[in-house]
Amino acid sequence: MQRLQAFKYELMPNGEQQRQMRRFAGLCRVVFNEALNLQKTRYEQGEKKLGYAGLCKELTAWRNGAPLPSGRTAPWLSEGPAHTQQQTLKDLERAYSNFFAKRADFPRFKKKNQSDSFRYPDPKQVKLDQSNCRIFLPKLGWLRYRNSREVLGAVRNITVSQSCGKWFVSIQTEREVEQPIPNGGAVGIDMGIARFATLSDGVFYAPLNSFKRHETALRKAQQTMSRKVKFSSNWKKAKARVQRIHARIGNARRDYLHKTSTTISQNHAMVCIEDLQVRNMSKSAAGTTESPGRKVRAKSGLNKAILDQGWAEFRRQLDYKLAWNGGHLIAVPPQNTSRTCPSCGHVSKDNRQTQAKFECVECGFEENADVVGAINVLRAGHARLACEVSGAVMPPAAGTHRSDSGVAQCRA
Ligand SMILES: [Zn+2]
Repeated sequence: MQRLQAFKYELMPNGEQQRQMRRFAGLCRVVFNEALNLQKTRYEQGEKKLGYAGLCKELTAWRNGAPLPSGRTAPWLSEGPAHTQQQTLKDLERAYSNFFAKRADFPRFKKKNQSDSFRYPDPKQVKLDQSNCRIFLPKLGWLRYRNSREVLGAVRNITVSQSCGKWFVSIQTEREVEQPIPNGGAVGIDMGIARFATLSDGVFYAPLNSFKRHETALRKAQQTMSRKVKFSSNWKKAKARVQRIHARIGNARRDYLHKTSTTISQNHAMVCIEDLQVRNMSKSAAGTTESPGRKVRAKSGLNKAILDQGWAEFRRQLDYKLAWNGGHLIAVPPQNTSRTCPSCGHVSKDNRQTQAKFECVECGFEENADVVGAINVLRAGHARLACEVSGAVMPPAAGTHRSDSGVAQCRA
């Protein structure tokens, strides 16, 4: 079985290389924004959207001095590696298809310092010298990196990115690994605010709330920053502090999510999870002027907690880690999972009197409400699997089994 994996290292560039990398990232941003500009104009004029190949043609012309959609000329684009700029156009293509598939909002213009990165797609142009902890990248030369672990597999592509003043290289590789035999049985997971994740066997993971923990420090740092004269050296210092706290929050959250998803995926062959539309839940609660949102305060707190705990990221990690271990993830529709009695099957919202306690009004069954949710999720997962097996050959450990409308009739 093919395994794709990314290995990320901190780069130790010299001054010239840092300037170059900032410049290359900036050039990619110009290309992205100009291409988006072009697509918008074409749309307003009733023309068809350009495909990737069409955009690449435009890019070549821009690099040769033809005017950009914004009117200026930018022959200096050719100072950056062409491949990285084409990859930017690919990213724009993906942003559009995510938008059309309703997975994301309309693509936005990129701002400076927002996501400084660029990607080299061609492994032939890259040389990795692991024994000397260095990597050769086009137009940058040999760069040293902090070697924290060995890169396994054949290099597929390279992404260079900046965060909090540090530069990183992410090496995506591909390798053949033996089909693993999964460990353990099936489990259902209930995701929540009070408990980050509750398993159907009763195990639960505490909420992370990494953001809350650092919230005060962050607010103070932001206040300090707002009192400084913009762009002064004290302002820059204060800004660096805000960015450091943001990075710390991100690291703590990533670490927690990885530990949790690793433990669960190593001990279960099948994991069932509610197919929550995290994007919809965390969407702005404020609404519009015509239809202002209800309970804006409460919802924004909930939204923040969801984002804080990174449910979507957790699910993504579970998905690929289970596949690596030979198991799989099953997403089930969330209907009634919190209201159905696992003992007698009675469905009523009265079964759940408080957030934490489940007590069946029909048979008197009592249990923690999150555990009940997880048990019901597991059942729904078994039901889905049963009808998939009877209907067709079940695909081997290959990502999430989605709950599309076509299988709705399978739910018992
Ligand atoms: Zn009952």
